[in-house]
Amino acid sequence: MARPTLITLLALKALAITLAVLGHWAAAAVVFFGPDLWVLYNLLVPSAQGLCRNFTHFQTERNEIWLTIDDGPDPDDTPRILDLLDQHQARVTFFLIGQRARQHPELVREIIRRGHEIAHHTHTHPAGTFWCASRARLCRELDEASQVLTPLGPPLRWFRPPVGIKHFLLPRALAVRGLQCVTWTIRSGDCLSRRPETVQANVIHQLHPGAILLMHEGPSVPDALRLTASRVPTAPNPHNDNRRHAWPR
Ligand SMILES: [Zn+2]
Repeated sequence: MARPTLITLLALKALAITLAVLGHWAAAAVVFFGPDLWVLYNLLVPSAQGLCRNFTHFQTERNEIWLTIDDGPDPDDTPRILDLLDQHQARVTFFLIGQRARQHPELVREIIRRGHEIAHHTHTHPAGTFWCASRARLCRELDEASQVLTPLGPPLRWFRPPVGIKHFLLPRALAVRGLQCVTWTIRSGDCLSRRPETVQANVIHQLHPGAILLMHEGPSVPDALRLTASRVPTAPNPHNDNRRHAWPR
């Protein structure tokens, strides 16, 4: 959290205590708890910009979206996804987990060799505890993944926190490491639904130029969805338009 923001929050707490001492209980409660709600909102809502600026879309004149695939690399899914992308001449960004990348460096090299971009998605993907991690843990999550990913490809530019939940100290931690935070415009729901048709309908319904689409690979995606996804190229699909998936220039 930026120092001015922290000072403002502390000042509001002091003001609330003063109001309570003076007997203005309702006003004191609003001033005391209001900032907490603001902090919670900005920590927990991925698109919120109050604590950490993050990209939720990109500017484009073309009919294209930014397709991002999280949680890899995965020995089952990554090769199939790469083949699928080749068939559609699409380039995407893989937000990789450092620990998994360390187990499968050959997959990371293959992602880059096929013309895609790799990005940072923490080292262990601590989805439930990232927001309240200690400063040391936060730095470890960032640095250990960078140590794995950086030697394998071009310098990392983008970071996505697990499930989009941020940390108070994230803005400064990213800035000193040359990373920028990216969330998304469209959440595909591929970790929640077991019906490919539902995911497809959800995504296509929201597609528009400049949108950032979040999808996943690996064990977090239900098996039914993973198997069906591998067969998509054989099915005629008017929405498989290369321009929609091209990397923004
Ligand atoms: Zn993730």
